[in-house]
Amino acid sequence: MTNWDYSAFWNEAMSQLKAKLGEHEFGLWFNISYESATEGTITVGVPSTFYRDQLVKNYQRVIESMLLDLSGKRLTLDFVVVRREVQLPDAVPDFMDEATNSPPETVRQAPPPRTELDRGKHPQLRLDFVFENFVIGENNSFAANAALAIASNPGTAYNPFLIYGGVGLGKTHLMQSIGNRVWRTKETARIICITAEEFTNEFIQSIHDKTAQAFKNKYRYVDVLLIDDIHFFQDKKGVQEELFYTFNALYDAGKQMVFTCDRPVSELKNLNDRLRSRFERGLNVDLQPPNFETRMAILRKKTEAWSFKVPVEAVEIIAKNISSNVRDLEAALGKLVAYAQLVGKEITLDVARQQLKDVFSQPRQGNVTVDTIIRTVSDQFKVSYNDLKGKKRTRNIAFPRQVAMYIAREITEFSTTELGLEFGGRDHTTVMHACQKVDEKLKLDPSLEATIQKLIGAVKELSTRS
Ligand code: ADP
Ligand code: MG
Repeated sequence: MTNWDYSAFWNEAMSQLKAKLGEHEFGLWFNISYESATEGTITVGVPSTFYRDQLVKNYQRVIESMLLDLSGKRLTLDFVVVRREVQLPDAVPDFMDEATNSPPETVRQAPPPRTELDRGKHPQLRLDFVFENFVIGENNSFAANAALAIASNPGTAYNPFLIYGGVGLGKTHLMQSIGNRVWRTKETARIICITAEEFTNEFIQSIHDKTAQAFKNKYRYVDVLLIDDIHFFQDKKGVQEELFYTFNALYDAGKQMVFTCDRPVSELKNLNDRLRSRFERGLNVDLQPPNFETRMAILRKKTEAWSFKVPVEAVEIIAKNISSNVRDLEAALGKLVAYAQLVGKEITLDVARQQLKDVFSQPRQGNVTVDTIIRTVSDQFKVSYNDLKGKKRTRNIAFPRQVAMYIAREITEFSTTELGLEFGGRDHTTVMHACQKVDEKLKLDPSLEATIQKLIGAVKELSTRS
């Protein structure tokens, strides 16, 4: 078959499209290349099936009609996946280690913003949840690139932006990175970052206190609203209604919304249809578990700022054995380091094997009950089960109780409200407070980390037996 050359028309169509869509939107989607052509078809290379599906859905017709105008011919686009690096509008140096095979898709990040503002820390955003600490691999490159584009131009192209995926895959990290970037680059931006659970509790409280108007005003006049874990809204009619109005107000005003969810929106149950369709607007992207190279890169990134060395064999054995999610990956590294510091030993492959053998053999998702946690913790601290659930607030009981709450929060999917009930009918704020306390203590006392990891191991062990 003869080869036809439509590349001039193609290039012209691309430059018109770029002018029409703007640098950012164009940069995000059009990492595509003219590959070849036959009489009626242009073959276009795209970086992944995800891009292909999105391009077919959103842009194919526009491009084909531009080509018709330009060439006077009806040309059909045929997208094929070709693996190569994604070019970002704001490309920066690679951070992947040369020794590891870099993932086939993007390994680039936008440079830190040119003008960093000194606004201090945003009260609701974690300082470490920034793009600079987020490793991009093929499992998350689309989501990460979209997040970067949104952070430089909030409220324009993708509204809302919804990130979904299983636990510990970086949803919260990515969402907060958008918040932190906007916080550091836009002087007047008002940003709220909240979990769906906190939003719900605050909403209920506002009705109780008759301050509903203040609640509405607070959420309807922000520039960026970040809501984490929206699966929590399932079954909660009242707050869904409120969020629907908040959504509309922000959407109409061109304010950016970002949500995270543990599953695709279509799988949420007992959700108001109008709200569901709002969530599905804009851009929904998923995060997948990282592959081996990306897991290595994540662990390397974590250790690179440390003064002591974790040898590459130890990092490798962790990356090999833990593949389900990043949180477990980090926990294993944390456990190893806590042990080494505690006993003043150098980390070697053998030490890593020995210390992590339980972690490696554990099934990741057991049927952990709060009861098992309370029993295990009360055994360890030699206090009674009833005291842990009861009202006493003496230090020897209050501290183990906080630890139990912390562990429950870490390894179960219960909300703080549900946990409060499990712990003798306490308020959700008590549980939140307990977790904060333990977090603070963990920073001061490295041996606590080892204790907690040991307890978690014991709880998981008991849970798989029953
Ligand atoms: P999720 O909200 O999906 O449950 P998180 O955002 O809390 O997960 O991430 C869990 C942990 O893993 C966090 O400490 C986060 O910093 C880390 N993490 C996840 N993905 C990455 C990544 N791509 N690069 C670096 N760290 C990551
Ligand atoms: Mg999260």
